[in-house]
Amino acid sequence: MRVSTYPLVDAGEAAALVLEHTPILGSEMRPLADCAGRVLAEDLIAPAALPADPVSAVDGFAVRAADAGRTLRILGESAAGRPYAGEVAAGTAARILTGGVVPDGADCVVMFEDVTAAGESVTVPAALQPGSNFHAAGADVRAGERLIASGSALGPAEIGLAAAVGMPELRVGRRPRIALLSTGDELVEVGRTPGRGQITDSNRWALLAALREAGAEVNLLGIAPDRPDELRELVTRALQDADVLVTSGGVSVGTHDLVKPLLESLGTVHVGRVKLKPGKPFTFATLGAGKVAFGLPGFPVSSLVTFEVFVRPALRKMQGLAQLQRPRLAVRLGFDARAVGDRTEYHRVTLHREGRDLVAQTTGSQSSSRLMSLAGAHALVRVPPGDQGMERGSFSEALILSLP
Ligand code: AMP
Ligand code: MG
Repeated sequence: MRVSTYPLVDAGEAAALVLEHTPILGSEMRPLADCAGRVLAEDLIAPAALPADPVSAVDGFAVRAADAGRTLRILGESAAGRPYAGEVAAGTAARILTGGVVPDGADCVVMFEDVTAAGESVTVPAALQPGSNFHAAGADVRAGERLIASGSALGPAEIGLAAAVGMPELRVGRRPRIALLSTGDELVEVGRTPGRGQITDSNRWALLAALREAGAEVNLLGIAPDRPDELRELVTRALQDADVLVTSGGVSVGTHDLVKPLLESLGTVHVGRVKLKPGKPFTFATLGAGKVAFGLPGFPVSSLVTFEVFVRPALRKMQGLAQLQRPRLAVRLGFDARAVGDRTEYHRVTLHREGRDLVAQTTGSQSSSRLMSLAGAHALVRVPPGDQGMERGSFSEALILSLP
């Protein structure tokens, strides 16, 4: 065993260092069909008003409110896509269907249910309100209005809005391209029966899912053996068309831990150890040409927790998202949370409601090899270092992964 020469960096400081050295990637035009989950890279400004014309919200008659209580002559009909060309003058009405353009001259729509129609005439109620029962031009969107801010994630409503105002494609942040590598002589492919001393490479699949959820495109490099030359060869080849290298394993201080020296030789290691549990060996480096590398610890929970804390926000920054962090909510602790040493701990919890409170329950043993501590967890609770801890019943801010 060697003694690590890297200083133990405070977890918050390490997260800030990662973001500081993470570049925002460029943008590209993409058709709407490819925009779900992407990040808008410029403000979406409405080129025109919506609706463009006043349109009826009901089936009825387009009339002048001043004609309240009178019997009016029916001029014709305005249906969706087939507007009435003429004008509704005093003493007249146009039959109108939902989505039909309110003809010039009319200033309100009366519902069928509220009139008495007989042949070519219609008697309207004694009280009519101008502006009722139709959507005025520009009521939903004003021309020139900022509809979606740059840095927003695009979901169904945002994409629908873009289509509604006539934008067939949008400028979005480029997705980061990741080269993902598991390291370790003990690893075997999933589905193969591990021999004595071997374990299944599960990090690859967990991290692939996490990376994709964060918007990245992933190139799976498979398993690298604990041999420096082969590792270097794999990594340098993969970096040719990747923005980010993500490895798991090989960052602790055993003699077979080769990732840190490799990153040292390829670029600059900014974080080599963190005051964080799980995740102490987390490593972050810049590699030149805007590329970055994350050396995640080997233990499955450590790799996913450090992904959450350090990698996910960085990938979001690369895509241009304004919101980098998970939402945080105050939760009431349903257990005593205590850090075992001088490192900040991220305790995995499930959440449930009790009255107005969200109550956090521990997922059990927080061992960094026990994926069951993270499977089904709703949140991570940050437990400060030192033996003071946080008592059951006290409130803490939780990083929300999903709500129950
Ligand atoms: P290391 O940091 O390489 O010493 O890895 C620490 C421990 O993490 C190993 O002893 C394995 O138990 C576990 N581990 C490493 N890589 C993986 C992987 N790809 N999938 C699952 N567990 C792993
Ligand atoms: Mg290893």
